[in-house]
Amino acid sequence: MASELLFAPYAPKSMAPDQCIGAKFDRLLEAFELKKSVENRRVVIKMHLGGGNGFSTIHPFFVRKLVKALKAAGAESIFITDLKRDVATAIDRGYTEEVCGCPILPVCGADESEFVSFPVEPPFKTMDKIELSKPILDSDVLLDFSHVKGHGVCGFGGASKNLSMGAVTNAMRQLLHAQEGGLEWDDAKCSRCNKCVNNCPDKAMTFKDGKLKIFFHNCKYCRHCMLICPQQAIRIDRGHYVDFQQAMAMTTAKLLTHFSGRQLYINMLMDITLFCDCWGMTTPALVPDIGILAGWDIVAIEQASLDLIGKAPFMKEALPPGWKYDDDDSKHLFERLHGKNPYAVVRLLEEMGMGTSSYSLREIN
Ligand code: SF4
Ligand code: SF4
Repeated sequence: MASELLFAPYAPKSMAPDQCIGAKFDRLLEAFELKKSVENRRVVIKMHLGGGNGFSTIHPFFVRKLVKALKAAGAESIFITDLKRDVATAIDRGYTEEVCGCPILPVCGADESEFVSFPVEPPFKTMDKIELSKPILDSDVLLDFSHVKGHGVCGFGGASKNLSMGAVTNAMRQLLHAQEGGLEWDDAKCSRCNKCVNNCPDKAMTFKDGKLKIFFHNCKYCRHCMLICPQQAIRIDRGHYVDFQQAMAMTTAKLLTHFSGRQLYINMLMDITLFCDCWGMTTPALVPDIGILAGWDIVAIEQASLDLIGKAPFMKEALPPGWKYDDDDSKHLFERLHGKNPYAVVRLLEEMGMGTSSYSLREIN
């Protein structure tokens, strides 16, 4: 059976004030029937507060509206959470308790000690545990409030990435990233000619202490380094980014299993940039602003987000000079830009029973 999603399109039908996306967001929250989900319950809002010079995170205007709506729906308590480092600089992007209407707290506590560790048996590659935020686990309702955009490692960042990379300890995030590796470098064969480093279009390689280091966040598995290497010292397995997606899906699924039916999703399809908010920078949008999706099914909302982005006109001017992308427009825009199929994590979550990729949109006009 298809999951119903609420969709408030950004584009107005007229210049009437109630056609503004802010007014549509109010109507979307009404249609979301928050009272049924949050009345007399403790609600945690997981969102990405960004960092550095990035400012295309979810606008505080929408956060304030959401918190107001949750209070009006009778939530017992509400807090926003994100990584400690991003909470520390949240004020730079306008997120304060006064503006948002509720406390903003580090995801695993002030000293990174508030988490619960679950064993992964058997381990997935080197991932032998999942460390989840205790303040999130201790809440009654999880509201996953996500800004959807591109992502260098997994193709895109949305509701799943917001949880798997943002509702965990720093050590867990490193463990997830450790699953990315898909390039193998043979130290013995390498002559240190530096051709791979100099020809990597994404500056994903460097030599440190005589060893080749690969920054997988940037790597698009384009194979330039492998092809240019005169010693055949580099081998590439393009399938490894899916291991990262698998690790992310497992982490998301663990958290959602805990909440089982007590989770809500809102995906903001605005300022859809090339890279994630964790980059600490904002670049021009790749496609026109699309709108806001809300629903109860993570697979459906991620699938719909990607589908809507895939159908939107691509504004090539948003790319930095020299950025190479695939001309094949039968592929999703994020795959053309990052070389990684963004639907992989959606499929994995569906296989894990976290929801359905079949959805219907109820438009909020
Ligand atoms: S595969 Fe391409 S992007 Fe990745 S390190 Fe090699 S040259 Fe750079
Ligand atoms: S191109 Fe090959 S031989 Fe040259 S530094 Fe890179 S890995 Fe080593």
